[in-house]
Amino acid sequence: MKSNLSYLDWIKVLPLIDAEYGMCLCPSCGSEGISYQYFGFPDDSFGWKLVWCRSCMSGVRISRTKIPENAESLRSDEEQQKFLNQHSGIQWVG
Ligand SMILES: [Zn+2]
Repeated sequence: MKSNLSYLDWIKVLPLIDAEYGMCLCPSCGSEGISYQYFGFPDDSFGWKLVWCRSCMSGVRISRTKIPENAESLRSDEEQQKFLNQHSGIQWVG
């Protein structure tokens, strides 16, 4: 497992469409399948995209991301905090 990956190392390997995340190889450990979750704001189509690997628990947070219309997003402080509490083991890169 590579521990010295940068934000850019992650961005380079991420697919352009969400449907392909399941086939994407983790740039850190090589496992297949990258998870993601959108964080948004009320009444705004832009937000954050959290991207991480369930195997090695490393990932990146991408800001100013357009949230697709049909994507599930967490838009309240409570929902976002609950999610972060449930995923507190993730090491965020960059
Ligand atoms: Zn990994």
